[in-house]
Amino acid sequence: MKHNKLITLALTLLLSTALLAGCGENSDPSKDSGTSSDKTASAHETVKPMGETFFIFDTVVNVKIYDDRANREHFNEIEALLNDIDGKISRTLESSEIYQVNSQSGKSPVKVSPETFELVEKALSYAKRTDGKFNPAIGNLVTLWNIGHEGAKVPDADLIEAAKALSDYHLIELNKDTHEIYLQKEGMAIDLGSIGKGYAADAIYEYLEAQDFSSAIIDLGGNIYAMGNKPGGKLWNIGIQDPDKERGNPIGTIQVADKTIVTSGIYERFFIEDGKLYQHILDPGTGYPVDNGISSVTVVTKHSTDADALSTTLFVLGIEDGLKFIEDTPDTEALFISKEKKLYATSGLKELLNKTNDSYTFAN
Ligand code: ADP
Ligand code: MG
Repeated sequence: MKHNKLITLALTLLLSTALLAGCGENSDPSKDSGTSSDKTASAHETVKPMGETFFIFDTVVNVKIYDDRANREHFNEIEALLNDIDGKISRTLESSEIYQVNSQSGKSPVKVSPETFELVEKALSYAKRTDGKFNPAIGNLVTLWNIGHEGAKVPDADLIEAAKALSDYHLIELNKDTHEIYLQKEGMAIDLGSIGKGYAADAIYEYLEAQDFSSAIIDLGGNIYAMGNKPGGKLWNIGIQDPDKERGNPIGTIQVADKTIVTSGIYERFFIEDGKLYQHILDPGTGYPVDNGISSVTVVTKHSTDADALSTTLFVLGIEDGLKFIEDTPDTEALFISKEKKLYATSGLKELLNKTNDSYTFAN
């Protein structure tokens, strides 16, 4: 049943990708969201939000500001901010800093902006904490598998081996004094797909804060920041997507104020070959997509950059090690949803979750 739904979902995605082919890759709905932001927030409140949708980072970005002072200029500045970030950290934009770093691999260090440097530094800290299971040097494997893009199929084993051999994160050399990044082996490539959207969410948050806004929903394809409180001082209700259903069907909601909620799931980007689903988070140890019984992982915390890195990290670690890892991470809650419809949650998350779907049950 579950499987059938995934196949239906895959077909729907294939169809919509085909229909949208003329509109460019960014309109692909498969790139959208694991969690969904509160749609009713404004209905009963006096403040109407002002919102805008952007297509960037291969995803749909939606920002809603709940404040009468919000105007077009704010959204123009947010768009500029997003373009600036993409222009620095994109793996595929030839003008980006990360692209330069990758193309100079094995040749010379590349000086980057302090922001890019710090982001790579942060990604590396997660690589160290997970012994390389979270791995920003995974660029070659990501390119090879090409998951979430047209024509994705299981690559030849020797190509996987070759890409794996170029993904040792120990060979990312950082020079704190000069802000230079050097990839020691030619052909290596950094990929920040696991952390970039969270970073962008934090950047938008900081911008809004500097503009003196205190109530907003920032949603980058399921990477959500529920800023401040709802107008009227209430908590936000953020839906946790049912991994087996189409978007907009939550298993329940969590009530939060001023928190980020980030989900990594098998239903976001994947392809099916010979009846087997290949999702987009890769195990750097095997070079293949992780296949460990997890449907999705949601992380709730204060900083979206961390939440994004963590959702990917917990996914690769698996439920048991992931729960241990998260208990050692302060002020952070997590929810794992298994393919068996079991929920594994930190105690803090259990308190936040208002489960509305009885086919999902707590396993811990
Ligand atoms: P999404 O981008 O769909 O929200 P994630 O935040 O979980 O999902 O990031 C997944 C992306 O991270 C992949 O598309 C790929 O670019 C990159 N990636 C895949 N496997 C790993 C890994 N083991 N460690 C770090 N990054 C990874
Ligand atoms: Mg992530």
